[in-house]
Amino acid sequence: MEGGRDRPLRSERGEQADVVTLKSGREIAAMRKAGLFVWEAHQIAAGMVRPGVTTGEIDRAVEDYFAERQATPLFKGVPGKTPFPAVCCMSVNDEVVHGIPGNRKLREGDIISIDTGCRVKGWCGDSAYTHPVGEVSDEVRRLLDCTSGVLQLAIELMATRNRWGDVAAEMATYVRDFGFTVVENFVGHGIGKKMHEDPQVPNFCSPSFRRKHDFELEPGLVIAVEPMVNIGTKRVRPLPDHWTQSTADGKPSAHFEHTVAITDEGPLVLTAAPTEAEQEDSSRRLAAARG
Ligand code: MG
Ligand code: MG
Repeated sequence: MEGGRDRPLRSERGEQADVVTLKSGREIAAMRKAGLFVWEAHQIAAGMVRPGVTTGEIDRAVEDYFAERQATPLFKGVPGKTPFPAVCCMSVNDEVVHGIPGNRKLREGDIISIDTGCRVKGWCGDSAYTHPVGEVSDEVRRLLDCTSGVLQLAIELMATRNRWGDVAAEMATYVRDFGFTVVENFVGHGIGKKMHEDPQVPNFCSPSFRRKHDFELEPGLVIAVEPMVNIGTKRVRPLPDHWTQSTADGKPSAHFEHTVAITDEGPLVLTAAPTEAEQEDSSRRLAAARG
């Protein structure tokens, strides 16, 4: 789940600066625990994606996994016209973000974006992937490659760029070179004890962002980077359930997200796969969950 524009931009609240809370090395290590559980939950979910499965079945498996880990799901109960009812957002095909899991059965050729997060000992992790269901068209395959690729590019650029605006501008160029569009209505966010903290983290760069909201990529910064890319128009529209956001032209959309910390050694992906040192425990947890 990402920061929408429902929170006022700072310019709309006057010229008050974003309040960015930098995290210590110890706090970043604590956030990694939540991030690894989020990665493991995504392995459970990814293993279930196939024609015939319902989005609700996948959501229940993720909910069970967080419960086993004593991790608190971040999305369930998020306030809205009705509180968000699930632990994952599941957005199929033209749905961009915030889709509600339920009885919908996945079909061959669909794509499904799964976004989830949890809190462990007070610290949050948040991550999303878009999966193909069986064989997808060449164009949709390119969409997935572009969206995962632009997230990877952003993480790499965070090692060498000083300001987010420079990363965001290159992200937008990368997507444009594919002939696709970056969603602008929804953006990434700072993350820590809360899922949504300052700053807002757009996947494109405007002069007004440069002037008013750009921020330094300094050690201790932890942000959720989450490009959403559309094949057609960048415009989105809400569905009548008040949560799901779809593309305005009905063409497919993809979404990938990682929680990333800047450390003295460079960017560290807190929702990445286990390191060698973490591998054994992680594999044991997943094996137990799969029974
Ligand atoms: Mg998310
Ligand atoms: Mg997010």
